[in-house]
Amino acid sequence: PQTLTFIESCIKTIPDYPKPGILFRDITSLVEHPQAFKTTIDLLVEHYRQVPLDKVVGTEARGFIFGAPVAAALGLGFVPVRKPGKLPRSVFEESYELEYGLDRLQIHDDAIQPGERVLIVDDLLATGGTVDAAIKLIRRCGGLVDQAAFVISLPDLGGEEKLRAAGVEPLSLVQFG
Ligand code: 5GP
Repeated sequence: PQTLTFIESCIKTIPDYPKPGILFRDITSLVEHPQAFKTTIDLLVEHYRQVPLDKVVGTEARGFIFGAPVAAALGLGFVPVRKPGKLPRSVFEESYELEYGLDRLQIHDDAIQPGERVLIVDDLLATGGTVDAAIKLIRRCGGLVDQAAFVISLPDLGGEEKLRAAGVEPLSLVQFG
């Protein structure tokens, strides 16, 4: 409703970034706005307040901006999923496909205990490649994950179907077609 329209109005769209032909949805303009940032976090928190959860996982780097405050508000621990070489202890690693080539993500292998229930938070769902790698990392730790939250979804890019096929239900506040 009105709140979601307000959040959507705070997201700037940058044409041809980072490459020609891409419409980049910029969440820095959203988090710069104190009311828009707080409202976004509050909406995500409200959605999961009654859901039994143990940890929130956020993916580098914009997933940290939203995932950490959601975790703190829900009284949960926050676990960063990071690009290679950033985490100091023993890690699990997963590769995932980009438009051109492969990228990798890592998690501390003891960050999630077997049986812990995990929520993934990221800024934006596009093809679902990033979140799919996060799901695999959580499951390799023995964690249980069936929910993922995004500020923005681009439903035309197939990420929602990919997530559901992996047994994870996506939530998004704003959709851009
Ligand atoms: P996917 O892996 O689902 O194809 O892409 C989602 C990931 O790429 C997210 O981690 C997100 O931060 C980043 N991403 C891709 N496109 C955009 C965009 O237009 N805006 C923002 N803020 N992030 C994007």
